[in-house]
Amino acid sequence: MAEKNKYSRRGGGKVGSADAEQQSRADLDAREYKYVLHISNDELDFLNRYREIIAAGTARFAEVHYNYLFDNPDIADVLYADEREGGDVSETIRAELVFMLDIFSVQEEGKREAALIHAGEQRYARGIKPVWVAGAYLMFMEFLRGLMAEQDIAALVRERLQNVLMKLSLRDIGLISEGYWNAALNEARSEMAHVCREHASIENLLSEIPQLLWSVDIKSNQVPYGNYPLHALYPEGLDAPFPFLKSTHAEDQQLLLTAWQEAVNGNISAREVRISLAGAPEHWYRLSLYPSLNHRGRPVQVHCLLEDINHAISERKQLERLSTTDSLTHLPNRTLWADHLSMALASSRRVPGSQIAVISLDINHFKMYNDTLGRDIGDLLLQEIAERLRSVVRESDSLARLGGDQFGILLSSVNDARTASERVITQVLDCFDVPFSCSDKQLCVSITMGAACFPDHGTNEQALLTNAESAMYRAKRNSLPFQFFDPVSDVSPVEQLRYSGQIRSALDNNEFVLHYQPQVDLRTSRITGAEALLRWQHPLEGTVYPKRIIPVAEQLGMISPITDWVLITALKQCKQWSCNGTMVPVSVNVSARSFQSPRLVEKIKWSLEKAEVSGDCLEIEITEATLMLDLERAADVLARLSDFGVSTAIDDFGTGYSSLSYLKRLPIHTLKIDQSFIIDVAFDNQDIAIVRSIIDLGHNLGYKVVAEGVESGMAWDMLNNLGCDSAQGFHVSHPLPEKHFASWLARSSASLI
Ligand code: C2E
Ligand code: MG
Ligand code: MG
Repeated sequence: MAEKNKYSRRGGGKVGSADAEQQSRADLDAREYKYVLHISNDELDFLNRYREIIAAGTARFAEVHYNYLFDNPDIADVLYADEREGGDVSETIRAELVFMLDIFSVQEEGKREAALIHAGEQRYARGIKPVWVAGAYLMFMEFLRGLMAEQDIAALVRERLQNVLMKLSLRDIGLISEGYWNAALNEARSEMAHVCREHASIENLLSEIPQLLWSVDIKSNQVPYGNYPLHALYPEGLDAPFPFLKSTHAEDQQLLLTAWQEAVNGNISAREVRISLAGAPEHWYRLSLYPSLNHRGRPVQVHCLLEDINHAISERKQLERLSTTDSLTHLPNRTLWADHLSMALASSRRVPGSQIAVISLDINHFKMYNDTLGRDIGDLLLQEIAERLRSVVRESDSLARLGGDQFGILLSSVNDARTASERVITQVLDCFDVPFSCSDKQLCVSITMGAACFPDHGTNEQALLTNAESAMYRAKRNSLPFQFFDPVSDVSPVEQLRYSGQIRSALDNNEFVLHYQPQVDLRTSRITGAEALLRWQHPLEGTVYPKRIIPVAEQLGMISPITDWVLITALKQCKQWSCNGTMVPVSVNVSARSFQSPRLVEKIKWSLEKAEVSGDCLEIEITEATLMLDLERAADVLARLSDFGVSTAIDDFGTGYSSLSYLKRLPIHTLKIDQSFIIDVAFDNQDIAIVRSIIDLGHNLGYKVVAEGVESGMAWDMLNNLGCDSAQGFHVSHPLPEKHFASWLARSSASLI
């Protein structure tokens, strides 16, 4: 029993040096083997006596041994591999042989044993199997038996010798095996030590990182591994699969369970959830689940990682806010507003009858505030404006700064977009009545708005916004506080782009023509003049009307050559009519930009000369808005024109500027009442009142008053009763091409005679 204990402790003891340890072990082995194999000193002495005789015959064993090794393909492979790695195979075989033959030598106790153990270790390292060693010894014993039979040795002695040799070979095999054992054990130990070191460093790493890591066994629903921070949080034990399930935000618990289900189905999954870990304040965490599959591809475990992403989430939110919010006013920016708009559209499309209004709002002359008061005041003003707008726009309506001095208001899910936007527009206009205080300055600010409604004015985000802006620009051109989108008047950017290249060539290709609409004296029915109205005979689109041409031409800087062409063409026509016997003065519309041209007066003069007509053949029509752009200059231009007989009419009177004080400062001859008051003048008492007032005003100031848009006999009669001077409209004649106008002229002169 004591021996057994000694044996089992082998290799595990602490000895000073490695050599000393090996020697003492070999000594121990020598005694042990002698003991277990019953090898007595007598037997060894006996062998010693016959050693010379036997050893002499062993020289022949070399060949037997060589054949044994190379006849066995597995052993041969190992030997060749050894050779390939630079080993000397013949030398190895020779050494093996010598070592084996050494079995007879009587050596100092423990020496042979130590060598045998060492040999075992080496054979292990070279990949030689123990059974091959046993085979070699068996072969050697058989060879010796044959050798002894050849020698003249008595049978009894032979038997005893064989017995001793058998014991010695068993000892050799045993000790060589022990070498194998030692080597394998050492290798396993060092591998184990390596694994332990790696494990320790991984464990160390996992316990140092703040993320929580654990694995869940799907079948048993147990947690076979959890890293230190997780155990530290839950010292009582880990509930699978998520120890923190109960501390997860109620709205996010389902997310965890869905993620788990995905992982159990073999998919990597991740969720961002709010958890209050161990009573700490709620944070955002990302839970990532990685299923681990068995050899059949089935998930058996799920590796879980929980990381705190609170900081990243708040940074992300901050970034989102920055990218969707205007930093100056803290209002949503165009991107976010566009999102709101598309969401509103999506929900309105689902509900029949649900409408949307998009209002584009622009601050008039904002550049002036910036340039004169400085950008800081400009910024303050924008903030104040944003604040004021916020106070009138309802929570449910989306207000945004779309850029520069432009704001947007979105009214979603309303029953009547037009009425709703009129209500908001009125409130917004009202709130701008009060001046803004910006760093001890009182600033009066005016705005212009344009509105487009879904579904009437557009069915997608882009169309609605563009159309609201087009309406706003039209309102600006006409100096109106707001306008709704009008598909006839508002030119879309697409259209602008389409026409931009074509307008220039239209002039060169004579695609522009003038139609003439007569103005007739309401009492005598005699013609008093004709308004020249532009038409574009588009080669592909047919007749294009001025409301689509003029704004584009103005924006592209093409209006001056058009005005020049209209002037000269109309005046030449006037000359033609007068040559034919009828004096018909022409009215030519001059747009705001043309009116600004410093060479306007010279051009008109030149055109009159070129057409060989006098100034009283021409009346220019300008709108109130055009006049108001620069009143001083307007007064000067009109006075100079008046000097050589050209008269001036204010077109579309009543729709523009509300201040009438400018009238007395300008040399004006005619007021043309806007057709919006005339169309229903026969029925609408308010229109009657307005028209009556305008006529009175005009007459009191000494102007001629012309009514535009006279479409019916009843309107004609009413205007006649109200004392209006002239009428222009479909009731008299539509605008006519020159040839038809000539016929109309001939017919009407005849009927008057
Ligand atoms: P406007 O100067 O007020 O011209 C009158 C407009 O009313 C014309 O439209 C005419 O066709 C239309 N009209 C005439 N009688 C009636 C009527 O009884 N009922 C209705 N509903 N409409 C009537 P048009 O020709 O489409 O011109 C529109 C505007 O385009 C003009 O308004 C004028 O401001 C501008 N325009 C026309 N020709 C020129 C031009 O050569 N140069 C510039 N700068 N503007 C022009
Ligand atoms: Mg006109
Ligand atoms: Mg008009």
